[in-house]
Amino acid sequence: MFNFISIFILIFPMILPAQDIEFLEKVNYGYENYREKTINHRRFKHSDIKPLIKNLEKKNFTVNKIGESAQHRDIYLVKWGNGPVKLFLWSQMHGDEPTATMALLDIFNFLSGNDSFNDFRDLIKNKLTLYFMPMVNADGAELYQRRNIFEIDINRDAVRQQTPEGKLLKDVFDSLKADFGFNLHDQSTRYSVGNSSKPATLSFLAPTIDYEKSISPKREDAMKLISRIFKNISRFIPRHIARYSDEFEPRAFGDNFQKSGTRTILVESGGYKNDPEKQFIRKINFLTLLSAFKSIAEESYKIEDTKVYDEIPFNEKFIMDLLLRNLTVKEAGNEYLIDIGINKEEVNWNEAKEFYFTSSIEDLGDLSVYYGYEEYDLKGMEVSKGKTYPDVFNSISDIESINFLKLYEEGYTNVILKDEKIKPGPTKIPLNIYIQNAPDEYENIMLTQTANLIIREERKVKYVIINGFIINPEEINFKNCNGLILKQ
Ligand SMILES: [Zn+2]
Repeated sequence: MFNFISIFILIFPMILPAQDIEFLEKVNYGYENYREKTINHRRFKHSDIKPLIKNLEKKNFTVNKIGESAQHRDIYLVKWGNGPVKLFLWSQMHGDEPTATMALLDIFNFLSGNDSFNDFRDLIKNKLTLYFMPMVNADGAELYQRRNIFEIDINRDAVRQQTPEGKLLKDVFDSLKADFGFNLHDQSTRYSVGNSSKPATLSFLAPTIDYEKSISPKREDAMKLISRIFKNISRFIPRHIARYSDEFEPRAFGDNFQKSGTRTILVESGGYKNDPEKQFIRKINFLTLLSAFKSIAEESYKIEDTKVYDEIPFNEKFIMDLLLRNLTVKEAGNEYLIDIGINKEEVNWNEAKEFYFTSSIEDLGDLSVYYGYEEYDLKGMEVSKGKTYPDVFNSISDIESINFLKLYEEGYTNVILKDEKIKPGPTKIPLNIYIQNAPDEYENIMLTQTANLIIREERKVKYVIINGFIINPEEINFKNCNGLILKQ
């Protein structure tokens, strides 16, 4: 036993996870030195990152324009290092999945730094060659949409090769024949780690190579690397790491790249409480990639056990945006108890540089197995559907001067506006404003409806839900309301 351990330490002198942790703690502490400070939210565009990429030419990177998107935005391949092991990382093939692109910009800043991490930089430089293809779907990013400008999902175009962006990705992949591939995406913020209350802040996958989910030696390496990353990064986000669905997708890049012999890892950035712009998750991505570089350079992943990978819980959907528990409904002579689960979807606004939310009631009934980013136990309170006020208003300023509390007490969350010139979109007024016509009215609280509710405690209005946002009527503030202006 003693000999076995000695041999182990001799063969792998640099592999102790404690050293990884110490390194990552130190990088985490110094992260602000590397964070690309011109990018602070998710809806940045190709024109925002292009000068940053071009500028890398002045540092010790090689920057090559390798082609253009369908709308002629330049796509770059950035190279750093000159070691024998090739890594290829590509981000944002889905235009509305930008977290890893932000992390790559931070990685570029880290790699071009000159500080106490120079030994690490030398290790990476000598052992690895890193190839980056940031923002593959530049046109989709412009519109903040998943698909490319042809409305084709690039990640279903690995084989048919009809999108210029998918073709570029495949051409680069074929020319590099990289040892490792990192397929960088964002996933729904509502994925949970198994059936827990924790959002899957990161999910990993070593994509399968066939429907039978066979484990080739190289796929096994990818699993081992994920095991290592899981151990290292769990420290920063305990119980917030999951495994992405491992169903084989013959049209996707990850599956095809894995099949052709590149050890491929899918990294999906999900959600984290109070991080709507994913700036914390961006930092976790940054640490994840550095952890991967370190492990590959030191070959420490080789001693990991795929059992760790196999035991990472799968993504499940047990999280909603807002969960209202234990409400009483009194409708049409019936009285019953319900929980209400509400989700909010982002709608692009102002040329996809901003967004607003539309909400819908996702589920009703016993939701005790679910969790909410925001949760309220409203036991003893009564809920009713918000109704539409019958009188028509002539202008927004007339609506602004309404006594909102009085309106809520009468059971109304919606008003009608005569002004035809006003356009549908968001409003800071704590109501839903219908242009010209009243919405179709239903008696009951129903699935898929916009979440507009009145919640009373002993007949007094305690809370109002306007478009999925909870409002205390005593504290109305036009700054943070999320009403909608709608046209039927
Ligand atoms: Zn994606």
